[in-house]
Amino acid sequence: MEKGTTGRGLECLVVRYAEVGLKGGNRRYFEGRLQRNLKDALASVGPARMGRTWGRLLVFPEGDPAPAMARLREVFGVASVSPAVETRKDLLEIEPVALRLVGEALSRRPGEDRVPFRVEAHRADKSFPMRSVEVNRRLGATLLAAFPRLKVDLERPSLTLGVEVREACAYVYADRVEGPGGLPVGVSGRVLSLISGGIDSPVAAWLAMKRGCRVLFLTFHSHPFIGEATKEKVKDLVRRLSRFQGPSLLFVAPFAAIQTEIRKRSPEAYRTVLYRRAMHRIGCRIARRHRCLALLTGDSIGQVASQTLENLRCAEEAADLPVLRPLLAFDKRETIALAERIGTFPISIRPAQDCCTLFQPDNPVIRGEVEACRSVEAEIDLDRLVEESLASCEVFRLAEGKPDRHHSPATILPSPPRPDPENPASRAAAPSDRPGSLEVGA
Ligand code: ATP
Ligand code: MG
Repeated sequence: MEKGTTGRGLECLVVRYAEVGLKGGNRRYFEGRLQRNLKDALASVGPARMGRTWGRLLVFPEGDPAPAMARLREVFGVASVSPAVETRKDLLEIEPVALRLVGEALSRRPGEDRVPFRVEAHRADKSFPMRSVEVNRRLGATLLAAFPRLKVDLERPSLTLGVEVREACAYVYADRVEGPGGLPVGVSGRVLSLISGGIDSPVAAWLAMKRGCRVLFLTFHSHPFIGEATKEKVKDLVRRLSRFQGPSLLFVAPFAAIQTEIRKRSPEAYRTVLYRRAMHRIGCRIARRHRCLALLTGDSIGQVASQTLENLRCAEEAADLPVLRPLLAFDKRETIALAERIGTFPISIRPAQDCCTLFQPDNPVIRGEVEACRSVEAEIDLDRLVEESLASCEVFRLAEGKPDRHHSPATILPSPPRPDPENPASRAAAPSDRPGSLEVGA
């Protein structure tokens, strides 16, 4: 069924999505979410009408399509985008458009003598009187006659003229740019990212978004030992990441009291591992309250002492939700390349102290043991400290280019949000009703 395809000769953008195995209700849910995400992403670049055709989404920008195209290329779930022209399903109308688009494409490659090319027609509407191969041959002959620089190369074309014959219209294009792939943000449920001001955790969050997770953020801040610059840096990182999923919630949990207590009561070598356990406990409380199905960290095996398998296990044992670590197998070099690509790197390298470096041991434990962690924690009133941190947690709603919204603890809503009826994943996580839990409408 085609919707929104009212015009003829209209400039539009054909958006393809790639995930296989999308069936029935899943497919509709996926498409609906992708369409909404595209609409939100386009809101910052100008008005656009949207339509759907089987297996494709169509965008008709009111103004210059170039900024819309650039924006769409960042939206997860988009496999590729082509600027296209919508025509009647009639070769007499398709042919002149094909000639114009190929002429324009050739004028963008003045230095190339012989341009390998092919025509690729798809006939989704089987009532169209010509088969795809016939359309290929006919348009191929017309184009070769008009442009002697073209040379047919079915295997490795550098220029492809695409024609898609759909139920209501045909779409003709000569250009295609890759999107980021992945799944539309929201289809996989929510996760809570533990974000520091470092390089790794923002990249981990981006990777989770890529697989369709909506990411909420939590950072721990050790005011007054650590200055405001660290908090501002994390806010800038979240604003940048909001580009890929829309306005994003950041929780800022005070951590100085917990660190001071751990420093007083624990063997020095265990400090960092115990910080991590406390972060996981607080993280799980916020995550459950906000229907997140997992925590997310930027850990990578063996990167630093706190990220040996033994120490990761110690940290994870304090969590009662899965802990996702998309960078486990990444080298730092690979993470930096991604950070540069998504624009978080310049923010991450701004100098600012992370709370984990506070009272950092000279010789941290490498093979931490869960029992040892538990016996130190038995000496600490951890429950009270966790409640106090939760009660003073600040919450911000951040978006690129928009003013921040600040929810002080006093404005935290009393009742849990209702599950998203469209998303089966959101029903799986029952919010915790334990006292002191936080809630902000997301
Ligand atoms: P990153 O570049 O993400 O900071 P890192 O290599 O510096 O990573 P660590 O400082 O050991 O690693 O932190 C490991 C993970 O613990 C981080 O990726 C992040 O998920 C979490 N983390 C560390 N510090 C904080 C913090 N202040 N607030 C929230 N999460 C944190
Ligand atoms: Mg760090």
